[in-house]
Amino acid sequence: MDSGVHWATYKFGGSSLADYQCFLQVTSLVRESVQRARSCVVVSAMGGMTDDLLQLISLAERSESVEERLDAIEQRYVECAACLLDPPARALVVDAWSDDRHNIEDLLSAIKLLGSAPQRTRDVIAGFGELWSARLLSQVLSESDSPNSVVLLDAREVITVRQTRLGASVLWEESRRKLAEFLANRDPKVLVVTGFVASDEAGLQTTLGRNGSDHSAAIMGALLQAQAVTIWTDVPGVMSGDPRKVPNATVISRMSYSEA
Ligand code: ASP
Ligand code: MG
Repeated sequence: MDSGVHWATYKFGGSSLADYQCFLQVTSLVRESVQRARSCVVVSAMGGMTDDLLQLISLAERSESVEERLDAIEQRYVECAACLLDPPARALVVDAWSDDRHNIEDLLSAIKLLGSAPQRTRDVIAGFGELWSARLLSQVLSESDSPNSVVLLDAREVITVRQTRLGASVLWEESRRKLAEFLANRDPKVLVVTGFVASDEAGLQTTLGRNGSDHSAAIMGALLQAQAVTIWTDVPGVMSGDPRKVPNATVISRMSYSEA
């Protein structure tokens, strides 16, 4: 991209998108950043959502009922949407969720029959969390913005990878071409992008691996030639220990690259 357009890239992880209050905080950060540069916002699934989706697969493999857990996922998402959106916008998001639920149920039925989930099916089911976050956030952001200035990008349309023994390797040429095509007739101020998910060379869905959304943000930053990639988190910095386990853990004020 040599369009002279300046982008900043942000990534918000699951704990920054855990509930509606988190979404509101993210929304205000994005609105602030848009004053300075076009903003690419890469999002993870809501905290714990990917684990919940993978748990559905385990239940289906054991031929156990998945309805209760799907209901719980639905309730969490729909309640969050209800706190953030007016009824018409909420209906759009909730209807899209219901369509996804039907697809997930079909996939889970197939897993029950097989007794085991193929990797591809696992990837498809695990990737829904990012799609739900991105849809919700882009809808919230567009409520108060001019039409078409907030654009949702399903990363599977752009980020193309080859799976290797060392993990996903980005096919830059192809990804760059697809992004240019995507942006050709759009002019977003904010691009909300699903983290974690990607496509492979055959155009089939894959993922960048667990915790892959940071990688997604770095890839989008490179593709957009962003001035900076900012990984937002909900802790004040790198700490001397896990604060949930080490009560007197402190923030380390300086750290070299090799120490990190
Ligand atoms: N939601 C995915 C995971 O839990 C990716 C990510 O959060 O970075 O692994
Ligand atoms: Mg993470």
